[in-house]
Amino acid sequence: MPLTAAGQTRLREDLRGLIKGDVRCGEVTQQLYATDASILQARPICIVYPRNTDDIIAVAQYAAEAEIPLHLRGAGTSLTGESLGEGIILVFSRYMRRLLRTGDDFVRIQPGMLRRRLNSIIGQSQKRLFGPLAGNVSSASLGSILARNGAGIHYLRYGLPSEHLLSLTVVLANGDVLTLDRNALIQPLQGDGSVALAQEIAYGKEYIYAGKVAQILENRTSNQLLESANQLAVNRAGYAEHSILRDSHVDLTQLFTGSEGTLGIIVDATLKTVSLPNRKGAAAFFFRSIFSALEAVSAVLPLRPALCELVDRRRLTMIRDWDSRYRPLIPQDAEAALLVELNSGTLEEPLDAGDCQNNLKHLIDLIQTKRQLSFHAIRVHTERDFQLFDQIIRRSELILGRMHQTIQPIPLFDDIAVPVGAIHTVVGDLFSLLQKHNMTASLSGHIGQGHLRVHPLLDTSQPDMIPTLASLVEEVYATIWQQGGTISSEWGTGLLK
Ligand SMILES: Cc1cc2nc3c(=O)[nH]c(=O)nc-3n(C[C@H](O)[C@H](O)[C@H](O)COP(=O)(O)OP(=O)(O)OC[C@H]3O[C@@H](n4cnc5c(N)ncnc54)[C@H](O)[C@@H]3O)c2cc1C
Repeated sequence: MPLTAAGQTRLREDLRGLIKGDVRCGEVTQQLYATDASILQARPICIVYPRNTDDIIAVAQYAAEAEIPLHLRGAGTSLTGESLGEGIILVFSRYMRRLLRTGDDFVRIQPGMLRRRLNSIIGQSQKRLFGPLAGNVSSASLGSILARNGAGIHYLRYGLPSEHLLSLTVVLANGDVLTLDRNALIQPLQGDGSVALAQEIAYGKEYIYAGKVAQILENRTSNQLLESANQLAVNRAGYAEHSILRDSHVDLTQLFTGSEGTLGIIVDATLKTVSLPNRKGAAAFFFRSIFSALEAVSAVLPLRPALCELVDRRRLTMIRDWDSRYRPLIPQDAEAALLVELNSGTLEEPLDAGDCQNNLKHLIDLIQTKRQLSFHAIRVHTERDFQLFDQIIRRSELILGRMHQTIQPIPLFDDIAVPVGAIHTVVGDLFSLLQKHNMTASLSGHIGQGHLRVHPLLDTSQPDMIPTLASLVEEVYATIWQQGGTISSEWGTGLLK
């Protein structure tokens, strides 16, 4: 929504008059915020760096009145264009990035604080951390992690970010501020307008909004709610309606987490922290077929792994080429690897190191000797081994983009998830579809939670690719939905989907 030069100046002056933070509408700044880590671009008209909640309320009210869209931004590392837009961008990483309070097992933070920074502070001072890591990206901000509620590589250990949330303060589009506490759930009261006003005076705005949300959810059939919950461990499509109503109480924190900033602006949050993990045992299993690796997942999951990642041959080869230390570790003829870290007990009561090693020994015996799925396995227990192990996971997310050949991996199905029991069938169907269109693909993912990343390998110089890709997308999506899966499991919905 381009503005005239006069309109631009008025907007800038209006905003500067309203807030203590910075307002930038110049071309260079607009261009800086026109991209994120996705393939999309959208040029905003103005960028605002708020200093406090009052600034945010003022900008929200101004934008609502002028009918200008608001877009929220932490570090801008999203992959589906969630932080992009043509309106006003609110950036929290300049001024609203402080640690407000530290308790024995919680922290209160501002939204622009980076997860990495928080964990470095409380890791050193308290030997604790905020567990969930949405992506394998060190610069993700905590406001965005909550707003996206992505599962990430540590889902099996820590679950979703929303499970670590204690309270949340949000600013709505009309400037209303809600303070929501997970331990003080709201029971919406019934009544006409005058009762509602009395309740608002007595209990605050939170009750009014909880009532409205409860009313909307009551109109949904239980089937619709169940559908939104389905059997998936991770699903980022739509709002998490099924987790908002609990015993006729309303938990609005679950509505705002995962809403990608479409419902409100997080201005502070109180989060649970957990003890630093005492990592005691992991293993890398190598397979001659990707299907053997998928079969092995069913042997791994009953042992409650902390992490279970699938890496395919292309990525393994690139990792070997990238760092010579991996040459003796990764067999050249491996088609796939499973990287498994075993859970060291509960978060607060770590399992004894001996028990962890026994479980690992049992797992290697099961996968390699008894079921003969894997032809080679390496145990990980020293600090150096863990660093190498972590780098395979980190690199396998990043490395594929470095293929400099005519044939390129295209991130078409980057964020699929299916119920874990259906992975084998779905991958078989995907390979048949790719074969039908004469394509191959690279495949990896957080496989322990049913997440798959499929990059078809394509000659991008071919002009007639688009219709083929369009039918491939339709066929793949149909297969995923048929198996009860989702095409938006954790990287967000954004503008892309
Ligand atoms: C190589 C790579 C791998 C990745 N892997 C994963 C992965 O495995 N899993 C995964 O989930 N993600 C992954 N990501 C995506 C991304 O890094 C993370 O999702 C990260 O949490 C985004 O943080 P950010 O601060 O950059 O968010 P931004 O991009 O700045 O914003 C993201 C979203 O948060 C909303 N938002 C920001 N601040 C607020 C606020 N204060 N209130 C309300 N809403 C707000 C925005 O509206 C937007 O919708 C990956 C990214 C890369 C580059």
